[in-house]
Amino acid sequence: MKNYKIAKDARITAYLTFCLLIFAGCAQQNSQSSNVTMQNVKSAETQSGDVTKTLLQGEWIDLSYEFSGETIYWNEADSFKKEAVAEGRTPKGYYYSAYKFCAPEHGGTHIDAPIHFAEGKQSVEQIPLSRLIAPAVKIDISEKASKDRDYQLSVEDITSWESAHGKIPEGAIVLIQTGYGKFWGDRKKYMGEEDGKKHFPGLGKEAAKWLIENRKISAVGIDTASIDFGASENFETHVQLMENNVPAFENVANLDKLPVKGMTIIALPMKIKGGSGGPLRIVAFLPR
Ligand SMILES: [Zn+2]
Repeated sequence: MKNYKIAKDARITAYLTFCLLIFAGCAQQNSQSSNVTMQNVKSAETQSGDVTKTLLQGEWIDLSYEFSGETIYWNEADSFKKEAVAEGRTPKGYYYSAYKFCAPEHGGTHIDAPIHFAEGKQSVEQIPLSRLIAPAVKIDISEKASKDRDYQLSVEDITSWESAHGKIPEGAIVLIQTGYGKFWGDRKKYMGEEDGKKHFPGLGKEAAKWLIENRKISAVGIDTASIDFGASENFETHVQLMENNVPAFENVANLDKLPVKGMTIIALPMKIKGGSGGPLRIVAFLPR
């Protein structure tokens, strides 16, 4: 775990407490193996009780869209397909339903694993939990993006965010609110397709490089279909991030409901072996 300089901040303290839950869980599991004393187990139980209290008192915000036939995929021809295997009252009297689904990795709320744009880098099941569960900040570029569909978040947007809200903590997940989430459900407006090109805002490659080099971020997330802006031809932001094993969350919902900082993100993708990405359940926790 990383050593956060702003540990005085109560919200970061809550995050650290949250980590204790994970450690407590590990400690409890390990207690079955030899070298964990009963005292350690007891203290883990106490910590776990405190953490549960913190978690129950806080607010949880769902940042995933539902998967259905309406879900937006990168290619218009793709979709989420769900078929009934069984559905109805059985001859024995009980109700039974079971379905099967089929969908591309990259659509709806999903993760891009580093291997998506960087050969030899992590596939989705290899991404460490420390990159998926972390404190987060939100940079809102919706005003600029509302005037320019091709807007790309710049280094200056980050530095001016920091002058207003403080330094982005090392290891943070950086969420980008473009405001385009309000178009979700309307593919035409969401993707801004025109003359075979897509037009929606994204994270500029220089800003991505700056975040990796200067803030050692864990991951990034955005309320559009791609971390690169829609008109990108070489996906340079993807390449920049993924060569450094930084995953990206795309089509993230409800970013407008989050404050600019103080939340913890839990982003757990479907664990597809060798996958370049996959459906993502992502939530934000706001301690009270
Ligand atoms: Zn993707």
